[in-house]
Amino acid sequence: MASSLPDKIIRQEILALSAYHVPPAENMIKLDAMENPYRLPSFLSEEISRITADVSINRYPDPYTTALRKTLKGALSIPSDMEIMLGNGSDEIIQIILLATAKPGAKLLTVEPGFAMFKMIATFAHMEYVGVPLKPDFSLDLDMMLDAIASHQPAVIFLAYPNNPSGNLFDTYTLEKIIAASPGLVVIDEAYHPFAGKSFMNKLADYPNLLVMRTLSKLGLAGLRLGFVAGRQEWLSHLEKLRLPYNINVITQLVATKIMQHYDVLQQQAESVKQTRTQLCHFLGKIGDIEVYPSDANFVLFRIDNAGQIFRQLQQRGVLIKNLDNSHPLLKNCLRVTVGTPEENDYFCSTLQDLIAGN
Ligand code: PMP
Repeated sequence: MASSLPDKIIRQEILALSAYHVPPAENMIKLDAMENPYRLPSFLSEEISRITADVSINRYPDPYTTALRKTLKGALSIPSDMEIMLGNGSDEIIQIILLATAKPGAKLLTVEPGFAMFKMIATFAHMEYVGVPLKPDFSLDLDMMLDAIASHQPAVIFLAYPNNPSGNLFDTYTLEKIIAASPGLVVIDEAYHPFAGKSFMNKLADYPNLLVMRTLSKLGLAGLRLGFVAGRQEWLSHLEKLRLPYNINVITQLVATKIMQHYDVLQQQAESVKQTRTQLCHFLGKIGDIEVYPSDANFVLFRIDNAGQIFRQLQQRGVLIKNLDNSHPLLKNCLRVTVGTPEENDYFCSTLQDLIAGN
């Protein structure tokens, strides 16, 4: 039978992809996507209602996002000699960087297990992908990384710090060796920085091939879709050319600017998440036969017998987490749970305990 027109026209590697799947979460305790579980205080949500009521949605937003960039640079202490470029989520920043660097034969290198979108967007951008395995404890294998860098000469390296899905911060010395040995661009993805405390932002001046990427999604603004990359003007001036005009909508610009003027509110929420993370790890560690991995992020990775079955049973009881079993050999029987409110965590832990006792 003749193949259909889309099959003939769409690129082979796109035909072979599966679309990014987001499971339904209505009426569930949602602990699968690393969102901040806390709402904004009423003084701030009321102020947001007031300012958004007046917004001119018949006009395009500020293409240069001037007020928002200024507020972000101040609130997040971006070094004054560095620039930032904003994206519709940091996913868009990854896309822009890979579109800009995808010369024929150019390679993206990252670690495995790692953030799935690096590989996915490499495919969109027609870029070759190299995944270097982490050690079984999810730390970087420096020798293997240096060998891979020498043989593949990657145009871009993406490393999440802390890493998703393992939750750990990589060793700083090892990362600096990788940046120094790299012939191309190295992007440190600090999506989980609010829960980690450590950053490469102040090392931008030391390495001309370094960029640092952040998102506001995990801090509490996932619904606004806002991420950014910080770095030298020499890089950002070129990346800016690929940023579509008006990629940050007017509501996002207005609301994010207002919220970032009260950044302390989000910081306090991140502090609460860190405290409840400690309790969650402690509790999980006490349940028999679970291996809990230390986390510097707002989620916890753990290994449990029959992970797939436990995942489905949790789902039936109204708790949605992430099943990573079968996604990578190092993640056999692994599940990932986002830190929720103390009540959500309690419900998750007691349900898990019941399931283990009943299986
Ligand atoms: N980087 C990492 C490591 C992530 O885990 C995520 C989200 N899961 C992102 C980037 C993308 O975040 P966003 O597009 O919401 O900014």
